[in-house]
Amino acid sequence: MYKSITLKRGKDASLLRFHPWVFSGAVAHQDKGIEEGELVRVLNADRQFVAVGHYQIGSIVVRVLSFEDIVIDRTFFRTLLQNAYRARLAMGLDYTDRHNTFRLVHGEGDFLPGLIVDFYGSTAVMQAHSVGMHLHREMLAELLVEISEGKIRQVFYKSETTLPYKADTGAQDGYLIGGDDDALAWENGLQFTIDWQRGQKTGFFIDQRANRALLEQYSHGRRVLNMFCYTGGFSCYAMRGGAGLVHSVDSSAKAIELTNGNIERNFPGDTRHTAYVEDAFKFLERMEQGAYDLIVLDPPAFAKHREALKHALQGYKRLNAKAFEKIQPGGILFTFSCSQAVSKEQFRLAVFSAAAMSGRKVRILHQMTQPADHPVNIYHPEGEYLKGLVLYVE
Ligand code: SAH
Repeated sequence: MYKSITLKRGKDASLLRFHPWVFSGAVAHQDKGIEEGELVRVLNADRQFVAVGHYQIGSIVVRVLSFEDIVIDRTFFRTLLQNAYRARLAMGLDYTDRHNTFRLVHGEGDFLPGLIVDFYGSTAVMQAHSVGMHLHREMLAELLVEISEGKIRQVFYKSETTLPYKADTGAQDGYLIGGDDDALAWENGLQFTIDWQRGQKTGFFIDQRANRALLEQYSHGRRVLNMFCYTGGFSCYAMRGGAGLVHSVDSSAKAIELTNGNIERNFPGDTRHTAYVEDAFKFLERMEQGAYDLIVLDPPAFAKHREALKHALQGYKRLNAKAFEKIQPGGILFTFSCSQAVSKEQFRLAVFSAAAMSGRKVRILHQMTQPADHPVNIYHPEGEYLKGLVLYVE
């Protein structure tokens, strides 16, 4: 039987509402010798069972896997992965010749805290954010092949930078299964090179799929600026939507190389696109007034922690203010925040302040969020992280 962690009186309240985290401050007592990543039973002050999950040193000490007193074994994970796969089929995200990219496991959103899995064609890229998931990696990789009905043939593990540094797991990125390196994937009829070995996150920002498709609808005849372009996802959709020109900007030379590659793959020889390795703020500063009538601002998470919140909100305000100042009248602004620590309301307020500073007439046309394959566990509202606005700027 698993070792136990006993909570202080009343500190089981959030668990009774199925919130999947136990914070260190809630713990009254823990059995001796619990190791990081070990499965533990969480008990209330009367020593009754409340939940079972992975133990970890840090502010979140337990990530809950079940609120039932069960054994967490291969069958348990198989069932959850299978459920995640079925949910993706229910979302209409099945594989076709022209679309084979989606997120299979979105951590708490799929009741598997600490685990991320993205499918790119025949490759699954798996990322552990907890030591517990790291310890299960070989088994999870085998299960991904099993539950995918033959679609997944290789599993790449990418957790060197996502596991807690202090846990000293010695995790190394690499293939757990296969490794023939076919790094191409389709999204809505566009083809992308996915650099899961060296790229950011699992190699691609799948979470912007629906928002990129929306941008395509607005691109016809417009001069598009895609700021923080990374792999050039938005740029490719703008090209297909009939943009007059598309400029992509990223401070990383590697990102620009990926963007140029993806544009060339989908639109060979098309001269409408140009990419720039440059800091976004500098580019916005030097660009001409009215040079663009569709601007995308999709910066990295400005606030990775709550402490950085104030600074982050200033950053969003400054960035958006520049775009409002420079965009052509009648222009469209797609603006995003992927910081979990920034709420929808706070983000909207930052954009509102930026709009007010510019004095321009601004209307909200769409409110964007993360797509269905990044589901939010209703008991874990923190899982909602991506927010965006489509604005019409007169
Ligand atoms: N829009 C992209 C994802 C953006 S990720 C997509 O749909 O795939 C954020 C990107 O911002 C990264 O590629 C990073 O290199 C870039 N970046 C970070 N700081 C930057 C800065 N100051 N100026 C320009 N780009 C920056």
